Amino acid sequence: MRARISLLFLILALSCSKEKYTKRTYLAMGTVVNITVPADSPDAADSAFLAIHLVDSLMNPISPLSDVNRINGNSGRWVRVSPYTARCIRRALEIAELTEGAFDPTVGRLVHLFHFDRAPDFRMPPEDSLRIARDYVDFRKIEVSGDSVRIGRGQQITLAAIAKGFAVDLACEKLDSMGVTGYIVEAGGDLRVRMPEGAKIGIRSPRGEGLFGVLRLRKGAVCTSGDYERFFYFRGKRYSHIIDPHTGQPVEGELSVTVIGPDATTVDALSTALFVMGSAKGLELLQELKSYEALFIEAEGVNMSPGFRKYLEEVF
Ligand code: ADP
Ligand code: MG
Repeated sequence: MRARISLLFLILALSCSKEKYTKRTYLAMGTVVNITVPADSPDAADSAFLAIHLVDSLMNPISPLSDVNRINGNSGRWVRVSPYTARCIRRALEIAELTEGAFDPTVGRLVHLFHFDRAPDFRMPPEDSLRIARDYVDFRKIEVSGDSVRIGRGQQITLAAIAKGFAVDLACEKLDSMGVTGYIVEAGGDLRVRMPEGAKIGIRSPRGEGLFGVLRLRKGAVCTSGDYERFFYFRGKRYSHIIDPHTGQPVEGELSVTVIGPDATTVDALSTALFVMGSAKGLELLQELKSYEALFIEAEGVNMSPGFRKYLEEVF
């Protein structure tokens, strides 16, 4: 699997002595995974990584044996999956409902047409194939019963916008269960922190190489969906790899959306959904979601929910 080195976040520094922590780096989910744990228990990082490796094998779009590919290969029929896959899909459906389909795992056919699952060779598909693929988008046709899943006949799902967050959460649950009380788990820029001293996290500026600002976080998750790492040009226009499920077209005009909240699963899926919704609708939704905050960097300017500001330590 091609590794995608993400610089969405740069973990700048821990405000504690560096010797207290150690960082191990791995490859999974098509990206780089960094796990920081106390220096006196470095092997905890390996145990946490195994959780991420498991989610990768269940949800990656490449291996024919992954749960996602078995579900897609048996559309219209019930498929027995891992309890983790069932849990992730249940959460995906809740977020699809909450965001009125701005996040929708049934965009699989569209993702495939644009080659978003085959970076970096993205392309604009012909209009008639787009129209057909769009007709299959409807998360309400996904059913989950126990550990079995059935999607609508002809539908294809993707968990690309939630699986990294889910994997990070599973790794953190593992560390919590081992009694580890200081860690950062980061997969391709999606991260979750538990650091009594607080961790400084840089938010990349969506244009240029610099930072937009720096966050400080003690406990919680941060994920960004951006148009600057995975995008393509068609007839002089720039398109992101995030699709508006209602139109079947890639989102335009949104540069990046960063979300903070208690768990990485929700934060990952929400960052994708809010990227589709834009700041006007997105900020309305955030008023209902007390524990989640977001920063929108758009072509027209920067907007954030009132609570986001308290995490921002510096803005450049
Ligand atoms: P990244 O993978 O860069 O972290 P995201 O978490 O936003 O970014 O996930 C984007 C990926 O999710 C796309 O590459 C595509 O495979 C899939 N996707 C695109 N649009 C949607 C959508 N509206 N809902 C759910 N999944 C989507
Ligand atoms: Mg996401």
